[in-house]
Amino acid sequence: MKIKKIILAVAALCAAVSLHAETIVAGPKGGRLLAAEPLKAEFFVTPDRKVEITFYDAALKPTDPGAQTVAVIAEPAGGRTKLEMEKTATGFVSKTALPAGEPYRIVVQARANADAKPKNFRVDLDLANCGGCDKAEYACVCDSH
Ligand SMILES: [Zn+2]
Repeated sequence: MKIKKIILAVAALCAAVSLHAETIVAGPKGGRLLAAEPLKAEFFVTPDRKVEITFYDAALKPTDPGAQTVAVIAEPAGGRTKLEMEKTATGFVSKTALPAGEPYRIVVQARANADAKPKNFRVDLDLANCGGCDKAEYACVCDSH
């Protein structure tokens, strides 16, 4: 009953994939698209290690976020650091570079407006390049992990 075993293995694999906390969606800049509301936001690390958040309309065109805001908290072993964010035409960029010591967790808190309840997105910061999809590991879209 080899075939039955394979089917069971595939079924188990599918279940494991669907249990994965969140599917990573690639953003237009090569970062990670976060399902913020009402506008989606891309988390991207610039070459000088600053966090850049870009908001997109339904057609994935960069757009002014209006009242939408984000807070970015880095959680390296050395302690949590909230990055100061500066407004740009289509989002926010951090005033300082990310602390050293990755991989570590980053939490992006997105709010529809200043009074709204935050929606948290967790990004495991790993800036190494993935050979599979040629994106940084934090934005990797490969199925294997
Ligand atoms: Zn990959």
